[in-house]
Amino acid sequence: MAIWDALAKAANMPLASLLGGSPGPVRAYNTNGLWLKPLDELGDEAAALVSEGNYSAVKMRLGRASIKDDVKAIAIVREAVGDDVHIMSDFNQGMAFGEALLRLHALDDQGLYWFEEPIVYDNIEAYAQITREIKTPIQIGENIYGPREFYKAVVAHAADLYMPDLMRIGGVTGWMRAASIAGAAGSAAIQPSLPRGLCSLDAGERIGRLD
Ligand SMILES: [Mg+2]
Repeated sequence: MAIWDALAKAANMPLASLLGGSPGPVRAYNTNGLWLKPLDELGDEAAALVSEGNYSAVKMRLGRASIKDDVKAIAIVREAVGDDVHIMSDFNQGMAFGEALLRLHALDDQGLYWFEEPIVYDNIEAYAQITREIKTPIQIGENIYGPREFYKAVVAHAADLYMPDLMRIGGVTGWMRAASIAGAAGSAAIQPSLPRGLCSLDAGERIGRLD
């Protein structure tokens, strides 16, 4: 990444332009909160996260001891942010496969923008089954190491959305290879997960841009 950065600086242009793209605004979600904390703290925090940068999307963590409490948590966050803000969810690989199927079916009509990493990141076969069964988009990718592992996931239809971590996917070079794989597959939406914690959000854009 540093060498690509140096190359762009030497060429006196943004790296995105050097790679054939163009700089421009990207939508972002605020992910800096809404952990598995007491329910009565979620509403204020969700409202603060939106107002912090006029965000149109926030991400909350799910996977409480009971499904009922996850449903309550979603309702509290929805009430706090209103109907026009997208709510992403992340389970941080916290569930076993069977439990994940049960819970994701139970939460499938909650209007969430995606379910992220419900189970251990590399159980590709199980992810493919979850993705077939669940309507809400399944999102994985931050723990995929390198374009070859990414390719295996895409070929297996392991998810609806992929958000590779820029470092783990192999820096700028690995990212471009992954974007080519997603483009060739045609059905995979890919978006960058940036080290600073802000991620671009545009599921309609088939290939994520580096800017
Ligand atoms: Mg995550």
